[in-house]
Amino acid sequence: MSLTLHFEYPNQTPDLRPYEHFVKAALAPARAEDATATQVIFSGNFDRSVNDRLASPGRGFRSTHRGGAGLTVAKTMKSPRGVNCSDIIVNRALLAQDLTRVRVGGMSGSAPRFLAHEFLHAGIRRRGEPSTPGDSERTFWSTRAWRTLDEHRVERALCRTWPQDVDYLGDYADFGTDFVRGLRETPDVAQHVLGFFPALCEKLAYAIAAAGVTDPVAAIHRLPRHSVLRRDGLVPVALAKSLLAAPDALTLAPAEELVAHADRIRCALQSWLRDLGYTVEMFEGGMVGVYSV
Ligand SMILES: [Zn+2]
Repeated sequence: MSLTLHFEYPNQTPDLRPYEHFVKAALAPARAEDATATQVIFSGNFDRSVNDRLASPGRGFRSTHRGGAGLTVAKTMKSPRGVNCSDIIVNRALLAQDLTRVRVGGMSGSAPRFLAHEFLHAGIRRRGEPSTPGDSERTFWSTRAWRTLDEHRVERALCRTWPQDVDYLGDYADFGTDFVRGLRETPDVAQHVLGFFPALCEKLAYAIAAAGVTDPVAAIHRLPRHSVLRRDGLVPVALAKSLLAAPDALTLAPAEELVAHADRIRCALQSWLRDLGYTVEMFEGGMVGVYSV
């Protein structure tokens, strides 16, 4: 294995064998055998390791503050070692003793699968494909679109060979139901939309990937029947279509093609929220406003 493993907080190296075994189990499904551009860092203080690497820490990264998306198991970040290099930080506190499982809240999933997901993100960067909007194009919607595209590409590639043991379809259905209920009941719609819509987009990206079909209508029909987003007729078919049209993370794609996909996904996300009754607008200086339509 050409990959070197690192440990932070504390920096002592434990018995390496189980960690090497864990990483090896994740490399092949992500086709990341040549992972020399990637570094895996097991951190006992995940938030601190992530914040250490943020160019502008801003408000500071907190793994517990993800708009209801759950705790972060691992994060792929730009590495100072080179433009196409990544550092994958693994939240060691969430790993079971034998490194086979991850426990987050009531959910339990395969630990190597979470790492394989990150290797696929690193693969996209290694090939030099864009995964975020350009610095001058960063808006609420472009950020959502690129993140939704990137997460969907990664999960669709992985779901094909390694079915997830986390119920992404059920998770999206439950989260979506709570989101719609919140829209009707919350005294602060702006905070609700800005706080939870990003996580909803991410969960839909995973659910459409996990549906394992190529037809958007079939993907939507795989969603649990109790989902309010299905019952209310707020079925995001156009969004599912734009996601399924994008190449998965193991398929090389020219930058212009990905930019076009991100653009279509941005429009589909905007109409989805509009169908739910709201719109988000961004003003000069980065201020955002949430309005009912
Ligand atoms: Zn991801």
